[in-house]
Amino acid sequence: MKYYLKCICCSSEYASSYNRQICSKCNGILEVFYEGKFSDVRAKGTDFWAYEKFLPKCQYVHFKIGGTGLIKSKESNNLFLKLETENPTKSFKDRGTVIEIGKALEYKYKEVVCASTGNMAYSVAHYASLSGIKATVFISDDANPDKIKLISGVEGTEILPVKGDFVMAQQKAMEYTKRMNGEAFLVGDYCYRKEGQKTLAYELADQMQDMTHVIIPVGNATLISAVFKAFKELQTTKKLKRLPKIIAVQAKDCSPLVKAFNSSQRIEYQMPKTKADAIAVGFPGYGEQAMQALRETKGSAVTVTDSEMQKEQKSFNNTYGRVAELAGVASMAAYRKIKFSESDKVVAVISGGNV
Ligand SMILES: [Zn+2]
Repeated sequence: MKYYLKCICCSSEYASSYNRQICSKCNGILEVFYEGKFSDVRAKGTDFWAYEKFLPKCQYVHFKIGGTGLIKSKESNNLFLKLETENPTKSFKDRGTVIEIGKALEYKYKEVVCASTGNMAYSVAHYASLSGIKATVFISDDANPDKIKLISGVEGTEILPVKGDFVMAQQKAMEYTKRMNGEAFLVGDYCYRKEGQKTLAYELADQMQDMTHVIIPVGNATLISAVFKAFKELQTTKKLKRLPKIIAVQAKDCSPLVKAFNSSQRIEYQMPKTKADAIAVGFPGYGEQAMQALRETKGSAVTVTDSEMQKEQKSFNNTYGRVAELAGVASMAAYRKIKFSESDKVVAVISGGNV
């Protein structure tokens, strides 16, 4: 679809030919606004590209991603699992990456730059490499060593370790992109990624009717805000009769969003202390949008401990014969802490499986 960009901080507008994801006036985050209507968001195919006409207009490379399974839980009648671990780099990140890489190619960049806790860098490195462009990734020096190994195995990737957490890595990536002076494209948790990640919600709406709740692990809160945006679009098409309640889950010792939402305060930085590295983000960039998603859908926000996620990870592996990382099963651990009724239809997003 044709679109334009608008800064969520200062409201400056940009045409789709604007080749950055950050506002040039205030460095704010941009948002994609479509010129067309979401008339009938329905799969025309079985994978991610089934929804291409609802994505930002671009000549994409049609990598085989998305179309991930939704299975009924073996333990609870009202629980369904959305298996994002089935994506090529084993996390939902691929959905956003292919949009960003498509745009990088359109704008003729030869290098993409991102900050990551691991999964995003792996995904960006993978598709940059397949597209013949360099990926420079900033990643905390105490990130999961298995993930760093995975990323360093991708051709054409440079890893720049950062002393500090994801928020620090994000700052470094931004500074580096500035120094590159138009020669590198900053990707990561920005507007194009968010658009790609909406397809998870489109798929859910095609895979089941009347879902009542969706539980989403929250790191930088891009996925939760993407799902909310998609639900609102689906509501305008009458495909969703009512907005499913969105439930945010964070690790107990890295839960700035949960704290803010449950105390009706502003989001404040919290130094991440969790083994669930994929959601170890001390200040969610899309936090305000996530708060809006929770308020408007009458959702809720809960925390889970590392040991609850570890227990869940084992039981997920035993029950389904599948591998998920700690953040990947945070949604299932959260499910056990909330009282649902028998008639509810709850989706737990199993977000990643890089362990
Ligand atoms: Zn701005």
